[in-house]
Amino acid sequence: MPTERHPAGRRLKRPGPMIRRKTQFSGGLAWEAPWPAHLPALRWLTAPAPPGDVGVEPADVPGLIEVLQRGGVGADRRECPDLAGQLRSAVVRRPDTLICNLVDDDPRLRLNAVLWRHHALGIVAALRLLAGVLGTRCICLAAAADAPAGFVKMLQRLAAEAGARVVGFAAHYPQGHAALLVLTVLGRVYPLGQLPTEAGAVVVDAAAALAIDRLVRRGRPMSHVPVAVHDHVTGKSHYAMAPVGLKIVELLGHLDIPAGQRAIGAGALLEQVAVAPEDAVGPGALTFHAAGLAPPAPPAPPAACIRCGWCVAACPTRLQPAGLLEAAQLEDPELADRHGLGGCIECGLCSYVCPAHLPLLEAIRRLGVGG
Ligand code: SF4
Ligand code: SF4
Repeated sequence: MPTERHPAGRRLKRPGPMIRRKTQFSGGLAWEAPWPAHLPALRWLTAPAPPGDVGVEPADVPGLIEVLQRGGVGADRRECPDLAGQLRSAVVRRPDTLICNLVDDDPRLRLNAVLWRHHALGIVAALRLLAGVLGTRCICLAAAADAPAGFVKMLQRLAAEAGARVVGFAAHYPQGHAALLVLTVLGRVYPLGQLPTEAGAVVVDAAAALAIDRLVRRGRPMSHVPVAVHDHVTGKSHYAMAPVGLKIVELLGHLDIPAGQRAIGAGALLEQVAVAPEDAVGPGALTFHAAGLAPPAPPAPPAACIRCGWCVAACPTRLQPAGLLEAAQLEDPELADRHGLGGCIECGLCSYVCPAHLPLLEAIRRLGVGG
């Protein structure tokens, strides 16, 4: 009988029910939004590429890297950091855990849930392949704990078949960030700008797993990526398979969203970056917000820090954001390190909650660039 216990809570070779795990931080943004009754299928905006001869099942990590490269499969986003980099790093530092990130921390953009609902078998097949090639001893499916019973049941059944463990999270922003998942599931930290493999884990999201499955099992290169767009003007969310390289303006055209009347942000809630109409869809952020063009309210001017501690309470990785601001103002990288700069995931919660409107995230990003 296996006795070794994995940090994710799984006794080896013995799959079990979903572990319900709350977020380990107090300040995340919680959602009241109900789970939708219907998770729509993804609409292919153009025909997928035909199968090629790239679908060879790899036997080792370098072989897997080569196959994925040939098939154009890649990912580099907060939910699945630099896939090729993670695999290269796994050659020298063997990970013990494969985490499949199915957490959507914005209920308007449930891309992972949509992909799981319609492509769960392919995702699980890819996880089994990855775990076999990487030699990880635990597969962990990280998903929203508030999902409907049918969704959870399918998770548990397929996880049991794959020898995986399901960990359910309260869907607080920014729980879907790969670094926060690694921290919450395994209790391990990897520094800003580095990869989950530094903490002994490989993290893939549903889109990356699906792309791997389509390539290896069906020989189909990654000609398309799944995207989710929330139109803030109509309140509608759209899910589609968009060809890699499609311009944002063309994507909006396919979805009947008037590009000239929207400002587009890519990425998670407080981490959005503005994208231009000519920017292209690719292996980066797959979630987009299309907001109206009404001029935003002018930002409140910053005041002095009142040492309320709200930023500390909100920080999911338990840093001292006010101290990081001070380090940025003093241009003191050692002070920044002492306040834990390396553990920052740039979620922006500290800036969001600060009653003095201090530019904490901007200061942290300056430190990161300069460091
Ligand atoms: S941006 Fe960094 S310091 Fe601020 S709350 Fe997020 S992790 Fe903490
Ligand atoms: S939340 Fe703002 S005002 Fe409060 S301690 Fe942090 S930086 Fe200072």
